[in-house]
Amino acid sequence: MITSSNPVEIINQLKATVGSQNYIEDTSQMESYLNDARGLFHGMSPLILKPLNSEMVSAIVTLCNEASIGIVPQGGNTGLVGGSVPSKSGLEVVISLERMNKIIDIDPINYTMTLEAGCILSEVQNAARDVGRMFPLSLAAEGSCQIGGNLSTNAGGTAVLRYGNAKELVLGLEVVLPDGTIMSGLRRLRKDNTGYDLKQLFLGAEGTLGIITKAVLKLFPLPADKATSLVAMSDLASTTKLLAKLREFSGDNITAFEYIDRACIDILIEQTDLEDVFSQKYQHYALVELSSSRQDANLQSLLESVLEAAFVDGIAIDAVIASSETQAAQLWRLRETL
Ligand SMILES: Cc1cc2nc3c(=O)[nH]c(=O)nc-3n(C[C@H](O)[C@H](O)[C@H](O)COP(=O)(O)OP(=O)(O)OC[C@H]3O[C@@H](n4cnc5c(N)ncnc54)[C@H](O)[C@@H]3O)c2cc1C
Repeated sequence: MITSSNPVEIINQLKATVGSQNYIEDTSQMESYLNDARGLFHGMSPLILKPLNSEMVSAIVTLCNEASIGIVPQGGNTGLVGGSVPSKSGLEVVISLERMNKIIDIDPINYTMTLEAGCILSEVQNAARDVGRMFPLSLAAEGSCQIGGNLSTNAGGTAVLRYGNAKELVLGLEVVLPDGTIMSGLRRLRKDNTGYDLKQLFLGAEGTLGIITKAVLKLFPLPADKATSLVAMSDLASTTKLLAKLREFSGDNITAFEYIDRACIDILIEQTDLEDVFSQKYQHYALVELSSSRQDANLQSLLESVLEAAFVDGIAIDAVIASSETQAAQLWRLRETL
């Protein structure tokens, strides 16, 4: 909250800190920063700041701390719980990380990427792919959410089973603390067993403990073989049984396993151009994906044999296995459109 005796002076200092091209003061241009995408959360703010580097973020936070001005860090503003939208008081400034969007270094040998927090997730995925590596975090908002937001929400996405949540994909962080100090911890070491793991405090903290300005991310080998299937399950309990079976017989090559119920499919059919995959209606479905960096992993036939066993056990009652990447993408649209 702004409690400074001279808020106008503080606002002017904040504007001078970022420079005339890097803030929005005109409320008519603030709409996308003050409302969430679903129209559930609405706020007000005197100023949207768009710093260009960590030093600017530090200077802003120092000023705000001294003047007791509330700060809302904002990434792509795709969060679903209103954490990126300021309150209606109109007393909090928004710090958008959108102009801190540089990839600083990609190291395909060490499987790491060092980058600024405002990088868009899909651009991070593409940059990794360009050097033959993969950044596995994937979610339907990937075209607009930012790495800083992903780390601050400990985002999950569709590949959590294999690669973990966002907090498991980070080796190092640079964070601006609430007093403006820059905490520098851009470590690239995997076997790092020194002292406290302070970075974990900021992952999933929704910006409450500091502003993430840079990160070192883990990269992985690109998958060379994939198998995707939509499976109709006999009941809800069978879903977890199928997951356990797939883990056991696929050499733990399961990347995604998404439960979808009939109500979701009905909504998709009613509200989008998507159609039922099966000629018959089922109550419970699992969208399954196996992947491996080995070209000869033969995942398609492995998936077929696990599903055959699941039919025999009465766990699964119907299945479609994608025969091409296009068909796999069609199955994934069910999940991504939800
Ligand atoms: C269509 C759709 C699908 C989605 N699917 C998923 C999904 O599968 N899994 C999932 O987990 N989420 C999902 N989400 C939610 C959302 O996309 C994620 O939470 C995403 O990680 C938010 O990133 P963002 O950059 O938009 O962050 P924002 O929404 O801008 O911010 C989210 C929170 O992080 C804070 N923050 C942002 N940047 C920083 C920073 N640099 N430092 C400190 N704090 C910061 C904000 O203050 C806020 O509290 C989905 C959203 C949509 C719209």
